[in-house]
Amino acid sequence: MKVLILGSGLLGVSTAYELGKRGFQVTVVDRNAESARETSFANGGQLSYTHAEPWASPSVLPKMAKWAFRDDAPLVLRPRADMDMIRWGLKFLRNCTTSRANVNCINLLRLGLYSREQMEIVRRESGISFDFSNSGILHIYSTEKDFEHAKQQDEFQRKFGSQQRHLTRDECYAMEPSFSHSARTIVGGIHAFQDETGDPYLYCNALAKVATERYGVQFLYNTTITELRKENDRIVAVATDMGDMTADAYVMAMGSYSPQLLGPVGINVPIYPMKGYSITIAANEYCPNVSLTDGTHKIVYSRLGSRMRVAGTAEFAGLNQEIKEKRIAPIIKAAQALFPKADWSQPITQWACIRPSTPDGPPILGLTPIRNLFLNTGHGTLGWTQAAGSASIVADIMEQKRPGILLQGLTLNRYMA
Ligand SMILES: Cc1cc2nc3c(=O)[nH]c(=O)nc-3n(C[C@H](O)[C@H](O)[C@H](O)COP(=O)(O)OP(=O)(O)OC[C@H]3O[C@@H](n4cnc5c(N)ncnc54)[C@H](O)[C@@H]3O)c2cc1C
Repeated sequence: MKVLILGSGLLGVSTAYELGKRGFQVTVVDRNAESARETSFANGGQLSYTHAEPWASPSVLPKMAKWAFRDDAPLVLRPRADMDMIRWGLKFLRNCTTSRANVNCINLLRLGLYSREQMEIVRRESGISFDFSNSGILHIYSTEKDFEHAKQQDEFQRKFGSQQRHLTRDECYAMEPSFSHSARTIVGGIHAFQDETGDPYLYCNALAKVATERYGVQFLYNTTITELRKENDRIVAVATDMGDMTADAYVMAMGSYSPQLLGPVGINVPIYPMKGYSITIAANEYCPNVSLTDGTHKIVYSRLGSRMRVAGTAEFAGLNQEIKEKRIAPIIKAAQALFPKADWSQPITQWACIRPSTPDGPPILGLTPIRNLFLNTGHGTLGWTQAAGSASIVADIMEQKRPGILLQGLTLNRYMA
């Protein structure tokens, strides 16, 4: 069967590899000159399989008022005259109840733990290198309240297979001695030892190469997709600036740009772009070795080989990837406060991009009302974490096999009731 995958970020490449391995004849189309040049380029690097608390939760509501007009807030909520954002925002608010947040958490965790298994298989079978580390993620907290909340979240997740270790302040310093140069308050931490890290850009391009050499997957770069052409209940072609392309089946993996092409063929996905930023510097001996999540400031740190990546901020800014100085400055300031002896005299590589976010948290996988159109999109803050699991699920659905996990809360159906 001939399959056209639309988009060559983490989700497009992972799906291409998986389908190629299973004997499909796969072509991937992307507007950039190589894979992973948009949201999958310089993200936080965390494979945070057990970080399953969705943004939409009761705990975010009191914080939203506090963050509303602060430029350095982890979630920047500037009201925009944008109907898509308003509709998305109302759905987000509806998911901020305890019962909805718990259901969304269970669904995210199920996909996360499955992705961990699938990532292990991809790493073993492909043999690719991407600055991978399996030393877990250390979550640190500056206030007792935040630490207490995280412990309760862990107690809840434990019932569904997540395993984390609670650490005292001293145990955090013992695990990461580079904290000792900082004046920042750390009251305690949680070590998510099932979690991992790696560079998504290296991963995508190495995996694309294996998919091409081993399974004959073709990557058509510098090609912009402009329209899905539908007849009755099937896609008959994809229009691009290089001409029309046809296949037996199509997989939508265009991240934040997916709604632009899905809307005109009658598929409305509640995916809204949430902008984030990262910086990357060459690491010295005063940078952390274990990946960190600063649970109070919502900033993540990953050691990727000889580099340190720092990422954070969620801003509603529409389809806009521009780097705004006042948004990236708080990330640099927080990193300098936590790791004052890192080499801050060197050039800092800055980056911004948009997370394809759903209002409830989980991505949208699999079937659509159009018989030969499948989705692998809407992964929000966790697209790197969930890439391997999502690809395997979408491939199973396309092969009409039972996927490895329950699909409840992970498909388009949940928005169609
Ligand atoms: C600051 C930041 C930090 C993050 N940190 C983490 C993290 O630590 N862990 C984690 O799990 N996730 C993280 N994420 C989220 C993760 O990066 C995303 O969920 C993931 O990259 C989404 O991948 P994707 O393949 O869906 O989208 P993309 O990577 O954006 O891929 C979509 C592709 O579609 C192509 N495309 C779009 N429109 C067209 C068109 N018209 N024609 C042709 N091609 C087109 C684009 O060129 C692009 O290559 C972070 C995101 C950000 C912004």
